[in-house]
Amino acid sequence: MKVLITGGAGFIGSHLADALLARGDEVTILDVASDLKVRHQLGHPKFRYVRDSVLNREIVEGLVSWCDLVYHFAAVVGVEHYVGDPYQVLNVNVNGTQTVLNVAFKAGKKVVFSSSSEVYGRSLEVPFTEDGERVLGSTRIDRWCYSTSKAVGEHFCFAYHKMGLPVVVLRYFNVYGPRLDRMDVGRVISIFLGQLTRGAPLTVIGNGEQTRCFTYVEDTVRATLASGATDEAVGRIINVGSDREVSIRSLAEMMIRLSGSRSTITFVPQESIYGESYEDIPRRVPDLRLMKRVLRVTPQVSLEEGLKRTLDWFRGQSVEGSP
Ligand code: UDP
Repeated sequence: MKVLITGGAGFIGSHLADALLARGDEVTILDVASDLKVRHQLGHPKFRYVRDSVLNREIVEGLVSWCDLVYHFAAVVGVEHYVGDPYQVLNVNVNGTQTVLNVAFKAGKKVVFSSSSEVYGRSLEVPFTEDGERVLGSTRIDRWCYSTSKAVGEHFCFAYHKMGLPVVVLRYFNVYGPRLDRMDVGRVISIFLGQLTRGAPLTVIGNGEQTRCFTYVEDTVRATLASGATDEAVGRIINVGSDREVSIRSLAEMMIRLSGSRSTITFVPQESIYGESYEDIPRRVPDLRLMKRVLRVTPQVSLEEGLKRTLDWFRGQSVEGSP
C-alpha cells in the first residue's frame, strides 16, 4: 500500500511510519517539522519525507493523488501551544484539515483523522463515550481552542463523509512513549522526565487528584493501523486509549520510583505553569468498547512497563546528547 502521513515527523506519526514500513508499505510523510523523529528511516527505499505544510494545497494534491490512504496527523498540539499560540493552532488544525479533506474527497481517497480526547473537554460523564457530550469553557480561555479546532476537523470529516468520502475519526487519550516531546516541555510525562533527570521536584498541578488514562504509543499504533484497514470503522469516531486511570500525583510517585531519582513532589498552582489561559480537566477516561469491538485492539502495555521503556529511551538520548 502507498500511505501518506501528514504530520508524519511528529510523535504518533513517526511511530506509525515505522509500523507501516515494517509491514512493507510505501510511506510518504508531509511535515514542516525537522526530521528528528524519523532520522532513522531516511534512506529507507520505501520512505519519503516531504518538508512542507498541509496548508500548501498544491503539494497536498500531488501527494494525495500518489497514495491509497491518508493519515491526517498534522496539527499543532500541546498545552503550551494552546495557550501560547492559539492562532497557529486554529490555522493549521482547521484550515489544514479542510485542505486535506477537500483534496482527498476530490481524489476519492480514504482519510483517518487524528482527533483528541480534548474534544470531550471537562465533561463529567466518565467514561467518555464517542457520542457523549462535550463540555468546554469560555472562548476567553485559550486552552479550549485546540478542542474546538479538533471538533471542527471532525465536523468536516462527517460533512465529507455525507458526500461519500470514507473517513475514520480517532480520539487519542494521552499517548506517551519514546520520542514524546523534548524533556522539560510539552506533555506532563516529558516535563516530569526532565525534572527527574535533574533531580528537581516534580511540579504536580493543583492537588494532583486529576486523572488521565495514559496510552502507550505501541498500543496506539496498533489501533491506528487497524482503523485504516477495517471497513466497519468508516464513518465512526473511535476512542483510542487505555483502561488504567491514574491520578497525576500517583503518576509522579510512580515515575520517581521507577527512575530511582531523588526528586520529590511539589504542588503548584496551575497559573504558575500556564498563566490564566488554562483550565484543567478533572477526569479523563475513555470508553473502549468500540476500539475493542470494531478495531479488535486491546491495550497490552501496562503503565509501569510503558514508563520503564520511555525512561530508558530518554536516558539513552541524554547520554548521546540529543534531542
Ligand atoms: N500537569 C502537572 N504538572 C505539569 C504539567 C502538567 O501536574 O508540570 C498535569 C496537568 O494539569 C494535567 C495532566 O498533568 O492535569 C496532563 O497534562 P498534559 O499537558 O500532559 O495533557 P492534558 O491531558 O491536560 O491534555
